[in-house]
Order: sequence, then structure tokens, then C-alpha cells
Amino acid sequence: MQYVFDFTEGSKDQRDLLGGKGANLAEMTSLGLPVPPGFTISTEACRTYLTTGREPDGLADEVERHLAGLEAQLGKRLGDATDPLLVSVRSGAKFSMPGMMDTVLNVGLTDISVSGLAAAAGDDRFAWDSYRRLIQMFGKTVLGVDGERFDHALESRKKDRGAESDVDLTVDDLRDLVAEFKGIVRDESGTEFPQDPRAQLDLAVRAVFDSWNTERARIYRRQERIPDDLGTAVNIVAMVFGNLGPDSGTGVAFTRDPATGEQGVYGDYLPNAQGEDVVAGIRNTLSLAELERLDKTSYDQLLEIMETLEKHYRDLCDIEFTIERGKLWMLQTRVGKRTAAAAFRIAGQLVDEGLIDEDEALSRVTGAQLAQLMFPQFDPAAQRTPIARGMAASPGAAVGKAAFDSATAVEWAQRGDDVILVRRETNPDDLRGMVASRGVLTSRGGKTSHAAVVARGMGRTCVVGVEALRVDPRARAFTTPDGTRVAEGDVISIDGGTGEVFLGSVPVVPSAVVDALYGDAAAAAAVSDDGARREVVDAVLRLMRHADDRRRMEVRANADTGEDARRARELGAAGIGLCRTEHMFLGARRKIVERVILARTPEQRDAGLEELRPLQRADFTEILEAMDGYPVTIRLLDPPLHEFLPDITDLSVRVAVAEATGSPDASAAELLAEVQRLHEQNPMLGMRGVRLGLVVPGLFQLQVRAIAEAAASLLARGLDPQPQIMVPLVAAVQELEAIRDMAEATVAEVAAETGNDLRFPIGTMIELPRAAMTAHAIAEAAEFFSFGTNDLTQTTWGFSRDDVEATFFPAYLERGVFGVSPFESIDADGVGRLVSIAAWEGKETREDLELGVCGEHGGDPDSIHFFESIKLDYVSCSPFRVPVARLEAGRAAL
Ligand code: ADP
Ligand code: MG
Ligand code: MG
Repeated sequence: MQYVFDFTEGSKDQRDLLGGKGANLAEMTSLGLPVPPGFTISTEACRTYLTTGREPDGLADEVERHLAGLEAQLGKRLGDATDPLLVSVRSGAKFSMPGMMDTVLNVGLTDISVSGLAAAAGDDRFAWDSYRRLIQMFGKTVLGVDGERFDHALESRKKDRGAESDVDLTVDDLRDLVAEFKGIVRDESGTEFPQDPRAQLDLAVRAVFDSWNTERARIYRRQERIPDDLGTAVNIVAMVFGNLGPDSGTGVAFTRDPATGEQGVYGDYLPNAQGEDVVAGIRNTLSLAELERLDKTSYDQLLEIMETLEKHYRDLCDIEFTIERGKLWMLQTRVGKRTAAAAFRIAGQLVDEGLIDEDEALSRVTGAQLAQLMFPQFDPAAQRTPIARGMAASPGAAVGKAAFDSATAVEWAQRGDDVILVRRETNPDDLRGMVASRGVLTSRGGKTSHAAVVARGMGRTCVVGVEALRVDPRARAFTTPDGTRVAEGDVISIDGGTGEVFLGSVPVVPSAVVDALYGDAAAAAAVSDDGARREVVDAVLRLMRHADDRRRMEVRANADTGEDARRARELGAAGIGLCRTEHMFLGARRKIVERVILARTPEQRDAGLEELRPLQRADFTEILEAMDGYPVTIRLLDPPLHEFLPDITDLSVRVAVAEATGSPDASAAELLAEVQRLHEQNPMLGMRGVRLGLVVPGLFQLQVRAIAEAAASLLARGLDPQPQIMVPLVAAVQELEAIRDMAEATVAEVAAETGNDLRFPIGTMIELPRAAMTAHAIAEAAEFFSFGTNDLTQTTWGFSRDDVEATFFPAYLERGVFGVSPFESIDADGVGRLVSIAAWEGKETREDLELGVCGEHGGDPDSIHFFESIKLDYVSCSPFRVPVARLEAGRAAL
């Protein structure tokens, strides 16, 4: 087993073994770019260390050999008394975990070698600056000393000397600091700072291994869904020095702007600095343009390298570089993270530049990114500075008055105010407040906290874990570290896409992408003079077209009204996968339904049904017309009985009051008895769906008749209505057969009456495990299956969505029972397996059985990829989600 690999051995495709940093350092080395020499200890070694508690056998020897090679190549020895070799010891996992793990620079400096370094560089100040940095970093990351102690010592030294920044400290100051730092190490860790260079190296390697399991790294991985057992690689790199005076420096750069996707390099440079000084913000950085003035040769070379990297990786790269006395060194590169807008824009640009084809471009954007671009956004032109930043938990741009408890949020919302609910963290008691608010802001918790899970479920904008906020619910205010105070009622704005928090009201603009997807020419013209936005919109449209070309699955929408159907069609839906009919029976019509259910005689019942028929016919006519030429799957009435009956508590009170006041109401008492008889402990599992259809005669028949009549009237107008009749909550084929016989007879009646040739597919929703497990039989009576994955998830797991999401889901997510709510993303192992068995067996019975999904999973990217893998015919989702589903269905088919 080989555990150590020289940079000349690896390549960018070995991220599993070498980690991202190591693989890309090797790649740059083989491209001939100026990378300081070094080697990588593999993730394999780390895994062994983490499972056995000690370094694998032979690792020490291998490190020794590679170190000797490095020393021979550079003609220096690690920590030598004259002209010593120094190295950095750098973490680097397969997936980048920014700031989560540890790196130590200047390893090899000791009380003796510091003089050698000073002599070789001809610069005492530089050598002591490097030494104090080593003790600081080593103390903190390897010996576990509280980093603030070093920071304090450095700060007070600067203050004593009236120094603006660390570069103003003299060599004597630095010498004193080194002594002081060593004292801190001794105090805090009970050991001396090690004076053996090789011991420093070994301890640092071990510390990097250990940093894989720090709490923050673990939390980060859980949030980003990075597996816990990958381990990190360790890179040992010969040091190059950006802190060697004004002709040295260090910087970071991007080959394009990762925020906007703007073409052209972009970056920050800090002269006379080392390592993380740039991101730490200890001094103001310079732009790359200023580097061009300072050191044109290095600048030109840097640009050339960036071009090489972009061409090679065929994508935006970010890099870390250092200039040592006018000589440029590359220290890191990777394909860079970017915003949603930049992702689309860059993908489009790269196609235009001929670097990638449209398939590749499509694979590089995601439905989640598209969804982000479809939310209203803060006006990009608006002046705004965040007062704090947390985790982007649920997208959107929300503005409102800060409320610090649920009751206040509800009260203000009721009087018409926009509210942002601000809490340290939320719990189930905050639910009402969250519903009433525009957005939710918490100072604690991560992407799986209660606030995050619930807000995402409700579609509320949400920012969580803004740790800089001191939220004081008693004082009804929060403060930021710089002293900004926001009291109850003050207006704030939160961006759920970036996690930013702003003071005051930031103007919100509708999404240009949505306008464009609607094909709104006027709106398109409005952004035409904004080149950046125009480019994003064009890239979205272009990749949508390509996704449509590529995808195998159809995308339909869940829509219950003509209005929603029209909107869905404009957004690209080719039909309705789920038209719910229950809302058509609520409101003013509820009374009629109540009469039907409580009817004493068939005559009373039929009278009620007759009253409903023209109303239903009008409902269906509107929807079928809006979706003319496309299938419309109409689900017969599904909800539990009690939704149509008077509230049992109200009614009981009424009856009791009437009795107590001596004027008993006989008809109310009778009604109450009937309602009590029909009362269910668990309506979700009670009399609903096909059960209702079988028990209340005439109800489903009325609906089928209304559908047939609506279709006949549209045919008469020369249109092409395509209704499909869907029976809900079927568990046994006998249920479906009974409804099917009735429906076919009813359609035949209407056909005869109207002189049309009417025939509609009749099928069922598969939403109970028993239906899935008897798909062979059910397909005998069904021409299509539509998987109702919301109910199928509830009935498979045995929990009710309304009751559990806000209660134990956060705990389940924390404990890793599931990585994401099974209502958000299909549980492929359980619920998904039922779907795939049913799909397979259904097809065995009936080759042309149509298969679709109408649960909310139809709009979820991961679920869509799963449905493509089991070859369903279509997914159906809410109208606004249709573009996301089109894009993901296209990506899934690549
Ligand atoms: P991170 O993953 O947190 O960026 P790095 O391992 O990249 O940590 O190192 C931290 C900083 O130190 C970076 O700015 C990097 O460029 C710099 N650095 C790392 N190794 C060397 C080296 N051999 N010579 C000079 N600077 C280095
Ligand atoms: Mg780095
Ligand atoms: Mg259902």
C-alpha cells in the first residue's frame, strides 16, 4: 500500500485519494505551472488513522523518503541551522470544506533555524515574522491553545508601538512576541513549543487528520451532506514567502467573477503578507489591476496561467498564489463555487467560447439554482450593506418589521403589517408566528434546524444561524457586534438565497427570469439594457430549450383552476397531472354537499347532486379548455367526510346552550347525532377517497357525468378535451372495478345523449402500500397509475405530515435517520422502492400503462432523477415549479 504521492505523480481525477487540493496541485505540476514541490499523504492513511487511532505502518518511512527527496531537490534540509527548508502542512478533503480544517505554515522553524532563515534571506524581520506565525498557528491548531490569546498579545504589542498593522512591527518587537507566544504555549498546553523540526511535521500531520472530526467540520458535513468516512489528505508543500518585503505578496483570484459571472479576472492581492492574511481582512487588499502596476511581469504571467487553467478545467477556477521577490508561485486551484446567476451565465459563455457543449452546460446548472433565480430578489441596483450574515435556509427576499415572539407576529400580520419573526431558534410553539411572517431569522441552528425545515416546507424566506446576532427576546431587540441595535418594530430585510441581513427596507424586484419564462416581451425589453441580467436570462432560456430537447419525461402541473392551468401551460406544462376537485365543493357549495351526505331519502340526495352538476360542469369546462389538447387528470373527490360536515364542537355547544336555556333545538340535536356517528378519530385513514365514492351513492357518478358533459360541450365547439378520470386512495382492485363500471356506464350515457364518441382513460392514484404491492391486479382495471407520493410517504412511514414535520423531524435530521425530509425528497429505499415495484408490475400486466407522479416530489430535483431512473412517463408539480422540473428532467436524461 502506497500512502504518499509526489505532486509529479497524481492528477485532478484522483480527488478520492489525494483530496481536492492535492489532486489539483498535482495537475498543475504536470501542466508545468510554477508549483512549489511537495507531496500528498493520502486520504487512505487518514482513514486508517481515524479508525485505528494510529498512523498506518510504513507511513513514517514513506514520509521520510519523500521528505529526503524534497530536501535533495531543493538543496536544503528541513529546519537546518543554515538556509533551512520550511514546509506547509495543509488539509485537503475530496470536497472543499472552507475554513473547516487546519493548515500550518512555516513548519521547520526553531530557535536555531530562525537565524539560518534570516541569514539566507538577508532579512531578520522576515525570519522572526515567520517564526511568530508558526508558533501562533501551531499553538492554535496542533496544541489546542486558544487563538485569541495570541491575537491579544499581537494587538497589544501593536498598540504599544502605535503600529497600524503587523508590517509596522520591528524585528525586536517580533523577537519579543516570539518569546511571549512561547510563554502562552507553555501556559496553555503545558508543553514547550517543539524544537525538533521533524516532530513539528509529524504533530502537524496528525493534527490535520484529527481536524476531520472537529465539531464544526462534522456539522458542516452534515449540512452539505458530505459523508463522514472520507477523511482528509495532507499536503506537505515547500514554503514560498509572500512576506519577504514589498516585492512579495499573496493573493486569491478567480478566472471570472463568481458573484455575477462577469467575464474577466477578478481578485485580491496583499503585498508583504503570508497565507490567510488576505481573507482574514487584517489589512486592505489591492485589486489585480493594482498588482499590474506593482509587478507587471508577475501579473502577466498570472493572467496567462489563469487562461491555461480555465481552458484546461473548462470552467471557472479560483486560485491562490504567492509572489516571492518577483517570482510567481501557484499554491492552489479548483473549480470555483458561484452564485446561481453566475452558474447560468458562465455555462452560456463557455458554450459560446467553444469550451463545452450544451450537454455539459446543462449538467453544470441545477434546478435549485433555477428556483433561486425565480424568486423575487432584492433590487441589484439598490444600495445595501449587510449588518450580519448567516446560513441561507429557504430562498426569497423578505422585508418586514422585526417581531420577537409569535403572538406579536400574528397580531401585526393580522393588522396588515409585513413581519419578520426573529428568534434565537424556533420550536413548535412558533409555528403560528412563522405562518404569519414574511420571513424567519434565527441566530442559532443550521440548515436542518426547526426553523429551516419548517420554513422550507411552508415556502417562507428563512435565514438561520446568524451567530453574530445577540437576540434578546426579553428586551425585544437584537444587536450586532458593531453595535447596531434593532428593536421590535424596526424594519429589516433578509435574503434567504445568500443568508444576508439588512437594516431597513431593501427594494424587491420581480424575477426577470420568471418574466422571460412566461415569454413576457415587455418584461424582457425592460432588462435588455442591463447586459448582465440579459445574459443570465438568455442563458436560462437557452438551457431550458436544451433540457426540453433532452428530456424523456413529460412535465405536467398540479392545477385546480383554469387560471392555474393557464399559468402552468405558459411555464411549459404539457397537461395537468393532478386536478383536485375538493375545493370545488367548499365555500358556498359545502352546504349542498352536507345535504347530500346527510340525506334521509334518495330524493333528497339526488336533488343535492343535481344542484351540484352544472357547477361541476363549469369547473371542468374551464380547466379542460385552458389545457386544450393536453391530458387533464381529474381526481374524484378525496378529502375526509368531516370537511363537509359542521364542526362537531360548535354544534355540541349550540345544542347544549339551547337545552340549557330551555329551548331545545330538535333538528340541531338530530344533526349532532349524525355528525357524531360519522365522526372519525383519524380522518386521514378514515372515510375518504374511493371509500366515500362507494358509500355515498351518486357522488362520483355526478363528477364523472360533469366531466363527460364538459368534454362533450368542448367537442361541440371544435376543441380537443382530454380528461383522464383518476380514482383516489384505492387499496384493492375491487374498489377500482366498481367505480370503473359506474364511470364507463355514465360516460356511455352522456355519449349517447350528446351523440359524441366519448371514451376517457380511467386510472388510479397509487398512494397506499397495498395498492403498490398489488399493482399486477390493479393494472387490470387501470389505464394509468399516478403515484401520489405525499400520501404514499405518509402511509409507508406511518406518520402524518401535518403532525410530525414541526415536532420530531428536526431531531431525526440531526440524528441522521434521514438526510432530508422524505416529504421533500423521495425516500428512494422505502417509498421509492414501492413506486418502482408498482411501476414494474403494472407494466407487466398492461404494457401501455401510463406512469406518472403527482406528489410534491414531482418538482424536487433529486426525486426527478430517481423517477427518470425507473422510467416513469411524466412528473407533475405545482405550476411555479414546472420550469425546475423541465430542467431537471433534461439533466436526468443526459
Ligand atoms: P485553506 O484550505 O484554508 O485555504 P491552505 O492549505 O490553502 O488552507 O493554506 C492556507 C494559506 O496558506 C493559503 O493562503 C495558502 O495559499 C497559503 N499557503 C499554503 N501553503 C503554502 C506554501 N507552501 N507557501 C506559501 N503559502 C502557502
Ligand atoms: Mg486554500
Ligand atoms: Mg392522496
